[in-house]
Amino acid sequence: MTFSPADHTRLEAFWRYCLTHQYFNVGYPESADFDYSLLHRFMRFSINNCGDWNEYSNYLLNSFDFEREVMRFIAELFHIPFEDSWGYVTNGGTEGNMFGCYLGRELFPDATLYYSQDTHYSVAKIVRLLRIKAQVVASQANGEMDYDDLVARIAADGEHHPIIFANIGTTLRGATDNIATIQQRLAQAGIRREDYYLHADAALSGMILPFVDAPEPYSFADGIDSICVSGHKMIGSPMPCGIVVARRANVERISVEVDYISARDQTISGSRNGHTPLMMWAALRSRSMDDWRERIQRCLDLAQHAVDRLRAAGIDAWRNPNSITVVFPCPSASVWKRHCLATSGDTAHLITTAHHRDSTQIDALVDEVIADLKARGKPPARQPLQGALVDGLATRTQVYSTASQPLRVPAPGLGKAEPQRIIAHPKGSDS
Ligand SMILES: *Cc1c(COP(=O)(O)O)cnc(C)c1O
Repeated sequence: MTFSPADHTRLEAFWRYCLTHQYFNVGYPESADFDYSLLHRFMRFSINNCGDWNEYSNYLLNSFDFEREVMRFIAELFHIPFEDSWGYVTNGGTEGNMFGCYLGRELFPDATLYYSQDTHYSVAKIVRLLRIKAQVVASQANGEMDYDDLVARIAADGEHHPIIFANIGTTLRGATDNIATIQQRLAQAGIRREDYYLHADAALSGMILPFVDAPEPYSFADGIDSICVSGHKMIGSPMPCGIVVARRANVERISVEVDYISARDQTISGSRNGHTPLMMWAALRSRSMDDWRERIQRCLDLAQHAVDRLRAAGIDAWRNPNSITVVFPCPSASVWKRHCLATSGDTAHLITTAHHRDSTQIDALVDEVIADLKARGKPPARQPLQGALVDGLATRTQVYSTASQPLRVPAPGLGKAEPQRIIAHPKGSDS
């Protein structure tokens, strides 16, 4: 490739920009502490993982053997025998969610899909694309699904084959919908296990819960039918990607034979990135389980550090158990813009991803938030939110503890779900 001097200058400027900003991120869950330099030389090849890594493909430049090992690791991590599972490396969390919803819809073509109002906006796109009827379920104050509202809606709809879209770590408040509770409630409502489908969106926390001492239920052993995680979030990757895994029996229903590549395909896209499976393989092979535990504990400790500091200054900060997302009142625009914080309604959050080696960047942000909120005369912290972590100990004692006071936000039906929802402040004032 030959470039003009001007184009050289332009690329050089972008390189410097990227170097300057590579660890900018405190508002979004992308980890930046990866090093795939051993893989750089593969960038010269057009590697394409079109189709099923478990089959022979006539397209020889594929990284199927690596993808198989990634899927073996993931099957183990989420407690399903490898032979009974099937999944693949996706373009990201959204594709994994779509794959899970697609499997659910193929199993129950006329079913209604239920997701909480704290669910990532991808689901609203997916239910339109797949033309699945959908209902938005209320959330509890900590961002977790309101299970009473879930069963009430299923009953009101007379839905015999619900597809449940559960969050393992919501985008804005890091909340985990309790899969065990969902299943208990479905059983109490007389819905048998074979009559519903349960997909788990574990974009961020799917790579947290397997490595903590007291995880919320998150695995196939806990009853899920499919789960997806993002590759560019907790794992870390220079390009977006993700991993989805499901029960093999359900995947076989959507498999198609493609004579053109002499292979079988049960993925959403055609050509698939062959480099990202290599990266996921490298990320998973280069760390031991203890390395993962240590890395994740460091993130959790840093999140608690941020909560402690904000609360010590009288600011109403909190986080969910096993979550690296710290929620606090939204500071002035100058502060959240300077730190690229994600905001929603009157709250903001920071996420203590693994590239924060120490607390310097978080402390600098916390200092500014404290100064800003004090200058604006924010009231001191009120009673800690049920289920939230304020001092390292969960105040949650039982799973329905906040269901008596759910946030009642109008739940749009099919076709009305807004892609961008405004999340009310968790203190319950949705007025
Ligand atoms: C980030 C995220 C997604 C979407 O993942 P992409 O990789 O951006 O497609 C889905 N669900 C949750 C909870 C997320 O945080």
